[in-house]
Order: sequence, then structure tokens, then C-alpha cells
Amino acid sequence: MSATSGSAASAPPATAATSQPPSIPQGPLVQGYEVVIGFETHAQLSTASKIFSRASTAFGAEPNTQACAVDLALPGTLPVMNKGAVERAIRFGLAVGAHVAERSVFARKNYFYPDLPKGYQISQFEIPVVQGGQVEFFLDGDKRAVRLVRAHLEEDAGKSLHEDFVGQTGIDLNRAGTPLLEIVTEPDMRSSLEAVAYARELHRLVTWIGICDGNMQEGSFRCDANVSVRKPGAALGTRREIKNLNSFKFMQQAIDFEVRWQIEQIEDGHAIEQATVLFDPATGETRAMRTKEDAADYRYFPDPDLPPLVIARDWVDTVRADMPELPHVLRARLASEHGLSEYDAAILTQSKSMARYFLDAVAAGGQPKLVCNWITGELSRRLNAQEIEVDASSVDAATLAALVRRIADGTVSNNAARQVFEALWTGEGTDVDAVIEAKGLRQMNDSSALETIIDEVIAANTKSVEEFRQGKDKAFNALVGQVMKASRGKANPSQVNELLRKKLG
Ligand code: ADP
Ligand code: MG
Repeated sequence: MSATSGSAASAPPATAATSQPPSIPQGPLVQGYEVVIGFETHAQLSTASKIFSRASTAFGAEPNTQACAVDLALPGTLPVMNKGAVERAIRFGLAVGAHVAERSVFARKNYFYPDLPKGYQISQFEIPVVQGGQVEFFLDGDKRAVRLVRAHLEEDAGKSLHEDFVGQTGIDLNRAGTPLLEIVTEPDMRSSLEAVAYARELHRLVTWIGICDGNMQEGSFRCDANVSVRKPGAALGTRREIKNLNSFKFMQQAIDFEVRWQIEQIEDGHAIEQATVLFDPATGETRAMRTKEDAADYRYFPDPDLPPLVIARDWVDTVRADMPELPHVLRARLASEHGLSEYDAAILTQSKSMARYFLDAVAAGGQPKLVCNWITGELSRRLNAQEIEVDASSVDAATLAALVRRIADGTVSNNAARQVFEALWTGEGTDVDAVIEAKGLRQMNDSSALETIIDEVIAANTKSVEEFRQGKDKAFNALVGQVMKASRGKANPSQVNELLRKKLG
């Protein structure tokens, strides 16, 4: 379904073998109701040209400069299948363990809308290219799986531009014919949190396997959330479909609002009417666009302009051989090969570039657990603050590895390492050892110098010493702090601990 259309009446039948849910755990009840959610996601496929024409798919061009005769639906034009779009659909099918159909069929979905010059959208209906499969992810440490019904290829529609015109609407057909993969789940999700976790995982997956750029602001990844509520054990409730959610934050807000609204309606004695709704971020509310009753009859039929899509098995094998290691496989490998927890491994595999960075740092001699801590801590904090990806980090993997090695061999304390990192990040220095020397951050490993400092601190802090002897641990920590301060952070904390205890008896 395109972004501008789609309704309850329109969805094609599920063609995948509908296995029984692998016992879907019940989510938290909301005022005694169970929440049921199914997703339809439109992922824009990252091909240079459109799904049935040679026009460019580049985002942001002047309106109507990237629509050719095929996209404009001029009489006599014929669609020609873009092989790259099919290849991306195959990649997706393989990534989710689905069946990649040997033969699938394009269909015309007929409706009128100003941004759809042909009067129909080319989509797949009865026989989609990807059938079944599932998306796995972690939620609160529990492994979850959401089953997919299908994923099918289709073209996007154009865009109606209301903003730049007073009392008029402009049509931009640049987006017409952009390749989309519509990914449809079973109604397996049981909370807004689970829905967002699914959407994040799907987003990670399509970007990871390189079929979609994942840019949500530009509409490259947009989700429709079908939401219903029911009393536990009852039949599925009537759903409402929230269209075009293009941020994870809005997704959760929209579903939470919708759930509360539906429960309130039911509690007030009203039946839920199947409808398509929009989320308004300004009010945080959903409101109906149209009800199911006035939805068009799309009158699907196989498109006579396109032959069935036949995918040879050896093509699937070629694509399979070219697949990157998938996030969940890499996650398990990081945990087993580098002794990380599943949790740490999950954070490191949030993006392919993050995982690459970790592996590069380890390959450069960084101790895995330390590297992981620095990536998930200091580095992530700074990346997030500047809203940049790890690829744009001003500290590269080899440099982080060098820093981590200096922590591991006792040259610098963790605190000093943070100062080194700061200097590397801001560009004040580029070489770890040079920064350590320039800033005089080398850890004091000379115990006689340290003993002198400790003696001075003991002499100057008789009160703390007295309190420690009376059994107050806090007083000991205060003394450690004083020694660290006197050494200007250069003392080795564990050595300070040891020596101080010895001296205090
Ligand atoms: P239709 O053919 O009526 O459009 P589909 O079977 O295509 O219905 O479902 C569309 C989406 O809605 C799917 O993601 C599905 O999981 C979800 N869905 C179906 N029924 C419900 C329900 N009662 N509550 C929540 N989601 C649902
Ligand atoms: Mg539907």
C-alpha cells in the first residue's frame, strides 16, 4: 500500500503458511485490557533509479524534475522491472528466514488520487515475493520474535504539497515510482514498547543489509501501526490503523494514546469502528482520516504490463553468498568470542559501523571488555551529544585501542584516560602517548613517592584517620581521595588503597 492510500479493506490475503504463534507472551495489561499490535512498514529500497523506470530516486530535487514518461503515466509507456529492487527484496527475505517466492505477481491496485497519475499503483497482492519469516530482538533482556506475514514490492505514489500554496495544492511526482518493500507482521506485539523494539530492530536490519538508507525524516522508513485491545482470552478486537509513523518517539506516543482512547471508548459502551487514523505530534493525539466503510474498492488484478516475477534459485544463492553477517549472528559471536554479555553485544551491534569499530579496536590490540566499556560509555555519550554516527568519530578505533592498552598496562588511570580521550576528541592531540606525556598524566607507579604523599595526607587528616580507626569506611574513602588529589590524579588507585591500609594498620 502506498503512503497515501491503504485501508483495512485493501490488504491482500496472507500467503505465508500461518503457523500458530510461538506462544506470544501476554504484555502488561492496561486497565485490564490486552494490547494487540501488527505493523505494516514501508522501507524505501536504496536503488539509484525507480522500480519501473530509469528516473533518479535522489531525495530533495526540485519538484517534478525526476519524473519520466513512465512515472507520469503517459500513454504508451511500459514499466520495466528494476533488478536492483528485486535483489534487495531477496536480501530481506534471506535476512528474516522467509521463503523467497520463485514466482510472484504484480497487481494493479486501483484508486484515484491526484498524486497517482496512472489511476492505479503497481503492487503485489496474492503472491508476494517474500513470504513468512520473523524478526527477533531483545526486550528487557527477553528474546522476542515477531512473525512476518509477507513483504512485497510496490511503487510509491507522488506527493501532494499543501504548504507552499495558499488555497491550492501542488503535485510533486518525483517520488512516484520509488521502490518500496512493504513488510507486514502478524498481530504479535503486545505493548507499545514491544512495537518500538520491533520497529527499531527492523530498521537496524534493513540498513544493516544495505537495502534501505533508513532515513526516517526523508520518509525512507515509515510504519503503520494497527492497534486493538481486548480482554485477555477474548477474540481479537477491532483495530484502527495509525498511518505513517516516521519517528520511534511518535510511534510510542501514538500507540499509547490510541490504546487509552480505545479503552475509554469501550468502557463508555461504544464499539470501536475500524478506521485509518493520523497521529498529530503537536497534540499527541490520533484522529480518524477515514472509516473502513468509505474505503475504495481497489479491484486488484494482475498487471498485464508485467510478466510474473521469476527468481531463479541460483540468483538466490548468489545473493546469499554476498550477505553480511546478520546482527543476531554477530551478537552471539561477540558474546562468545570476546567474552561479552549479551547486553553489551546487543549495544555494539546496534549498527554495523559500531560493530566494525569494536572489532577494529580489538584487532588493534584493545582488550575487548575495556574497548566495549569505552564505546558504550565515553564514546557513545559524545556521539549522542553531537548526534553523529561512529563513522564520524574524531577518535578512530586504532586510537581508542592505543588508549585502552595504556589503561590495561597501568600507564594511566581511568580518570587520566578520560582526560586523554577529551584531548583526542577535541583534536588537541592525536597520539595517545604524546598526549599522556604532554599533559603529565602518566600514573605514579613509584611507590616511594606515593608513600611520601600518603604520610603527608595521614599527618594532615588526623580526624579522618581517627574515624577510620573507629570503623568508618567513609573516612577511608576520604583519605584515598586526598591522596589522589595530592598526586594530581596520577596515583594508581588500587596501589593507594593497598598502601594506605597497610600504613593505617
Ligand atoms: P486486512 O487484510 O484487513 O488489511 P491484514 O491481515 O492485512 O488485514 O492486516 C493488516 C495488519 O493489521 C497486519 O499487520 C496485521 O497483523 C494487523 N492486524 C490484523 N488484525 C489486527 C487486530 N485485530 N489488532 C491489531 N492488529 C491487527
Ligand atoms: Mg492492511
